[in-house]
Formats: sequence, structure tokens, C-alpha cells
Amino acid sequence: MSDPWAGRIVAPGSPGGPPAAGTLADALEGYVAWQAARWPRLAGARAALPGVRTREVEVGRPPCRVQWNPARTVSTTARVDPETVAARPCFLCPSALPPEERGLAFGPDAVILANPAPVLPDHLVVVARDHVPQAVGTALPLLVAAAVAFGGRFAAFYNGPRSGASAPDHLHLQAVRGGVLPAERAATAGPGPGDCPIVRGPDLEAWGLEGQGRPILAFRGTPGQVEAALRAAVEVLGEVRPDAPEPLLNLLAVGVPEGVLALLFPRAAHRPACFHEEGPGRCLVSPGAVDVAGEVVSVREEDFRALDAALVARILSEVSLDRPRVRILEDRLSRRLERWSSPS
Ligand SMILES: [Zn+2]
Repeated sequence: MSDPWAGRIVAPGSPGGPPAAGTLADALEGYVAWQAARWPRLAGARAALPGVRTREVEVGRPPCRVQWNPARTVSTTARVDPETVAARPCFLCPSALPPEERGLAFGPDAVILANPAPVLPDHLVVVARDHVPQAVGTALPLLVAAAVAFGGRFAAFYNGPRSGASAPDHLHLQAVRGGVLPAERAATAGPGPGDCPIVRGPDLEAWGLEGQGRPILAFRGTPGQVEAALRAAVEVLGEVRPDAPEPLLNLLAVGVPEGVLALLFPRAAHRPACFHEEGPGRCLVSPGAVDVAGEVVSVREEDFRALDAALVARILSEVSLDRPRVRILEDRLSRRLERWSSPS
């Protein structure tokens, strides 16, 4: 059988391909502009992005931002129930990609594409070559590998199949520029005096961020330790708040001098109550990793106007795991991870 990705993958430095580059992170610098020059839809989206209105809201430190980005309407309002998903062609499979779309190989199993509806500049999608379901177990190694390969220049993130992924049927990550999202910036400094320590060892440190208006667990260390700790955290979250097919969550990972910094956002709901409301209380915000990381995307002007600190705090709190259960999660995880780091 012929490779369905043949002709879709371009090599940096090849004739007609994106500019030659040393590392994958270097190649990504030139790739999006190269792709935009060959794909009018992406070029239009890139040109429109500087005009997207944004505002800071006093939730968390550094504060969250709200953006009004009508181009995200399809993604924000996407129906992701199994019946709807089964009835549509998969938009991440190569057979359904627009003819102009090309990507960079990411190892033997994934391809990096440019998101034609960017939330932030140079918004990427890391797509598994095979049509396999979005699942945290298979996404974890890809997430950590992406963080290592991107070397801090891009932050990779994962939306669970019921926590913001608009393609729950096809394994994928996304990525935006490193150092941009407020939650990433909050964790980069390491644990603060008010934060909740989970574990501290030579190869792994984990802590819960406090005062952010939504629960965030941070993990920093060698790639192998961070991946193992995330796997343990997902398991414990599944005990504390079970859901099917997996606990509700978003993940983010970025390369740091110690190896990888990863964030886990434990969730309680896919969408806030106001998303489903009729009338003036309605607010079309459908949080994924970018939103819980502090860049809250709205698609209608009335929602952008309504999204003050109180409403943003309410939405983030509603879709996140409640505080008592976050405490249980942190305690149980702490006991489990300490067993690894203490001599037996
Ligand atoms: Zn697919």
C-alpha cells in the first residue's frame, strides 16, 4: 500500500521546500512562512492575527488574556460527540487535507503542520501519521519528545478527547511559541513560596501552582522522569475523578535547561454552563489547553466584551477540578512520586 503521507511531507533544504536548517526547531522558524506563501488560507489567517483584539484580565499571575478571534468559531463550536465525529471525514488524515498543505516529518510516526486558524502566531499541529484516537497514553511520549525537539522555542500541548480536542478521533498535539502563555511563564520561575510542593528530587521536581484561579500542576526534570510523573499523575487523576475514556485534562510541555517543564490542568467539564445557555447569559468559550494556560479565546464580540475577570474566573473554575479534589490529587501523587525518589 502506498504511503498516504507521500507528497505531503517536505524536507527542509529540498528543491522547492522550506529553507535548509540545522535542527527541527530551526526548520520550524522558516516552515510556517514557507507554507503561508503556498497556502492563501494560512496567509490570510496570519495577516489577520495582528488585528485580533486582546485584553488582560486580572486572573492569575501573570494575568490571563482574552482574545476576540472570530476565525476560531468552527473550532470553538465544533460538535465532538461520537456520532458527529463518526459521520464526518477526519480533517487530520492526509486524504482530507487541503491540496496546498505540506508538513515536516516529526520522527517516523508524526507530521508537523501549520494550523490554518491560529490562536497565536506560528500555531502548529503535530499529527500522528496513523488515524488512531486521541488518547493521553499514546500522546505522552509524543508530547515529551516534541518539547525536547522544540528546545523551548515552541510549547507543545495536548487536549483530551473531551477537554477541547476538536479531532478526538485522530491523535494530535498543537504548539505555540514558547514563553507566551501565562501559565507557562508562571511555572518557568519554579515553585514560589505559596505553592504546594509535591516532590523534589535530583531528576524531578513537581509542585501545584497556587493563586492562579485554576489548578495547575507543574513537573520539571529529565524528559524520562517528567513523562513517568505525568503518567502517574494521569493515573491518580483517574482515581480522584474518573471519566471515560480518560480523565479530563490538558497538558503542556516545553524544553527547559533541566530537560522538560510540563503542566497538567485537571479538568471537570468540557464546556462551562454559559456555553449552553440561551439568551444574554450565553458566552461561547470552549476551553482547551491554550485557554486554561491563560489565553482565553472568544469568537463573538459580545462575549469578548462580557469576559471580565469575574466571568473568566468563573469559567476557568467551572471547567477545572474542584479544590478539595486537587488537594487529594496532590497528596496522593506526592506519596507516589516520593516512593520513587527515596532509597528503598
Ligand atoms: Zn484521521
